Formats: sequence, C-alpha cells, structure tokens
Amino acid sequence: MRPRLLKGEPNPGTDPAHYSGHVMNFSNPPAAPSEQADAAADHAPWPDPDTVRTMHRHIIDWFTWNARDLPWRAPDRTPWQVMVSEFMLQQTPVVRVLPQWKRWMQLWPEPSDLASATTGDAVREWGRLGYPRRALRLHAAAVAIVERHGGEVPSDYDELLALPGVGSYTAAAVSVFAFGDRQTVIDTNIRRVQARAISGKALPSKGLTAAETRLAESLMPDDDATAVRWNIAVMELGALVCTAKSPRCDICPVLDQCAWVAAGRPEPEYVPRGQAWKGTDRQARGAMMAVLREATEPVPPEALLSPERTAWKGAPHAMEQLRAIGAPGDQLERCLEGLVRDALASRDPEGRVTLPG
Ligand code: SF4
Repeated sequence: MRPRLLKGEPNPGTDPAHYSGHVMNFSNPPAAPSEQADAAADHAPWPDPDTVRTMHRHIIDWFTWNARDLPWRAPDRTPWQVMVSEFMLQQTPVVRVLPQWKRWMQLWPEPSDLASATTGDAVREWGRLGYPRRALRLHAAAVAIVERHGGEVPSDYDELLALPGVGSYTAAAVSVFAFGDRQTVIDTNIRRVQARAISGKALPSKGLTAAETRLAESLMPDDDATAVRWNIAVMELGALVCTAKSPRCDICPVLDQCAWVAAGRPEPEYVPRGQAWKGTDRQARGAMMAVLREATEPVPPEALLSPERTAWKGAPHAMEQLRAIGAPGDQLERCLEGLVRDALASRDPEGRVTLPG
C-alpha cells in the first residue's frame, strides 16, 4: 500500500458543508508532520483488533444504508467522472458541486472534450465553485491525459500523480474510488473521525502527522474491496454524522466504541479559526470573475477598478454584486493583476479584460 494522503488547506465551507469536500491543497502536497503532535499521537491508545473489526462492520453497514446517492459513486461511473468530482470537491461542498459537475459532464463527458475546449470555457463553467484555478488545472490534466494516455485516465498512482494539478490526495482518491485500489485516503473527515473514535480527541492536530497516517493505514481492512468501502464510509460518516461542530453521536454507528465519548468528550486542544471571507481578496476576486463570466463583451478595466462610477452595463447582475462589496480601489487593482497573473483573466490589445482562451 502506498501513501497517499493529503491534506490540508483551510476549507471555507468546511465541514458541515464540506460534505465532500475533501479539504486539501490544490496541488496536495502532504502536510508536514508535526513532530510534537506525532509524539503525542504515538502514545495514544492503539485500538485492539476486535474493536477495529467491529468498527469496520458498523461503519460499513451504516454506509450501506445511509450513503448519499451521488453520481460519481454510481456503479457505472467513469474514472473521468471521479476525477472531475475530486477536483471540484476540494474546498467545495457537495451541494454546490453537484449541479456544476452535471453541467461539466454534459459539456465534457471525456477528457478529450475538455482538452478541446478553451481554458476560458473551463473557467466560465466553473461558475461559483470558488478557487477557479482548479478549472485551469483540471483543463491542463485533461490535455495531459489526451497527450500521454490516449484520452484515458490512467489507473496507475504514479501516472495520476504526474498529471498537472493532481497531488497525492487526488491521485489516491482516484485510484481508490475509480479503480478500486487499496490505498489509504485521508481527508479532513477521516482525520476527525479517527481522532475522536480512536484517539479520544475532539479534533485532529492542525497538520497531518505521520502517526495519523500510520494509524489510518493500520485501520485499513485487508481486502481491496472492503478497504475501498471503508475509506468512503468513514469519509461519509465524518461528513454526515461526526461533523466538526455538532457530532450526532446519538445516531452514530460506533458510539459504543468511541474513545472521545468514553473519555467524557474532552474539549479540543485548540479553537479552529474559520476562514474569513468578507473584505478579503478572495471575495473581491470572486466578484470580478463573476463579472467576466457574465459579460458578453470585453470588460473595460475601469468597470472592474471603479465599479461604482462606471456607466458600462455589460454584466448588470455581477456588477451590482461587485459594487455591493465596496472593495477599495487599491484592492481591486491588486486583485485584477492577480487574476491576470494567474491566467484566470486576459487583457485584449485595448486593455479590456476577458476570460482567458
Ligand atoms: S460517537 Fe460521536 S464523536 Fe464518536 S465517532 Fe460517532 S459521532 Fe463521532
């Protein structure tokens, strides 16, 4: 079994909504292990085999009856469908991903379809999923799949990992959920369930530790099919029941085995900080991207930089939202430069702004 994991970045919609949402870095480098946390985790009680077997049975049974019916989990799902879902679910909750995923699958049912589209099309159809650089990375991955793999998503972990925008988490997730490989996938939901049910802590450490990884690997069922189901079942339990803010222990299938409950539900060792949104560059960039998506013609830069003073009417709804956030001019200027630098926006010869491609 090879490492795979992930983790890390802040999740705006996090957990409750994260319902999917595999929180992770976009390029998914494994988080640096924290030696201190690692040492502490190494002294956490290790579950005995009987307890682990009971957890396998209870959580997988629970999943059988309670899993959400999501199209990227359907028996006839394709590796490409799984890959697109994994990109979209990074940082974005299922409820927002679902319509956009369906739209993408209508437009681009195969990697070659997306590879033939422009990056501007990909960014436009990314809609309001947030972190639109994921659209560029997914487009680049589709191009690489066509060029290197004849248009078929590769099943080999290392070949997946070599695709643009695919980090260790995404490579592992596609290996597991598309090809049924036995790999350990660790997302925020899995870390939280593991921290509570096994380690007796309210929350996992801030960064993924080597001890957590070893524990997750040790919890994996032996056979491939059960291991795949275990991964997704624990993720789902973390998304629907063992949520960050309000775990629903009363309906949890492992309440009787849960170390955190047995310990009297001790307080977390730190207070997680939510991600700010209002007033941030992310908010301003998102509002500008909405203008570019709605616009039916190139956007004069003054419309983006002084939205309250412009007479331009090319994207009335999005312009109203851009005005509403009241971002100062220097912030708007910085954000516009950032969008151009990130290849999410282009300037035409007259200096007007458009989507790329
Ligand atoms: S009993 Fe509660 S804290 Fe323990 S795993 Fe279940 S939901 Fe999470």
